[in-house]
Amino acid sequence: MIIDGKQIAQRQKEHIREEVATLAARYGRKPCLDVIIVGENPASMSYVRSKIKATEYCGFDGELIQLPASVSEDELLRVIRERNENDRVDGILVQLPLPKHINEQRVIETISPEKDVDGFHPSNVARLWLNEDAIVPCTPLGIIALLEQSGTVFEGRHAVVVGRSNIVGKPIAKLLLDKNCTVTIAHSRTADLAAVCKEADILVVAVGRPGVITGEMVKPGATVIDVGINRTDSGKLVGDVDYESAAPVAGAITPVPGGVGPMTISMLMYNTLKCYNQRITNLSRNNH
Ligand code: NDP
Repeated sequence: MIIDGKQIAQRQKEHIREEVATLAARYGRKPCLDVIIVGENPASMSYVRSKIKATEYCGFDGELIQLPASVSEDELLRVIRERNENDRVDGILVQLPLPKHINEQRVIETISPEKDVDGFHPSNVARLWLNEDAIVPCTPLGIIALLEQSGTVFEGRHAVVVGRSNIVGKPIAKLLLDKNCTVTIAHSRTADLAAVCKEADILVVAVGRPGVITGEMVKPGATVIDVGINRTDSGKLVGDVDYESAAPVAGAITPVPGGVGPMTISMLMYNTLKCYNQRITNLSRNNH
């Protein structure tokens, strides 16, 4: 079975769009996401375009702030702080990576946690690990939705996550743990990656290296989620999993493109709506 992320993401966006129409009529304003991009990295520009397109589809308000690659860190932090204070804005997204002269962690920590639609702020990370209500990073959230929609059984199953980044590997491992999977996290120092992967009922691969997983590393019938986004020399978009050899062995698999990518964007819409709802609830609580 091919897990059609594009279709699942589309359904989610339609649902959000309907909810936004109702909420806008009730509260007199739409959710608002401001997106900040620094420089003109083509991959980042393309991601940002997709995100803006999705906000428009869902009926959100928002502003795209394009800053030159030479912008100072102080100026970028000022732009973020202005939006933290601005009642119009529900969500702030700064497209990563940033130019080398800007401290990415400082930028992440400057975004107000309640407007942190990416879920990267330490306070959201802590809340996730403490099982408190948190803004959870979009890609891991999207992976769980893909697994749920494809009828994956979680409880008692062995999930292997390859990759331990803060934005994908670690949070998806935590979410799978919360679903009562037994979770193994593999990484570049894992001694026998093939043996570890072969144990997986659910295999999530977030490495950034094409073909790191091949068919003989996949347990027959396993569900394989390929997070990787890589460009071949000929410009073709491929994942981390060798699709040709893995698909015949897997019980279910996500394609690249059309798997995790679209879900990351629809989950960004979900997180923006969540920030909006939380701000409305807090405002009405403060007014009473
Ligand atoms: P990082 O570079 O931050 O992390 C990569 C991880 O892979 C590291 O933990 C590293 O191990 C591990 N790794 C590297 N080589 C190997 C190897 N040979 N065997 C096992 N593990 C290895 O990447 P990200 O998590 O940010 O992204 C991973 C991929 O997912 C990228 O292709 C990225 O573009 C894509 N991505 C896709 C998204 C989507 O929406 N579809 C969203 C976010 C990312 P170690 O820690 O030991 O160095």
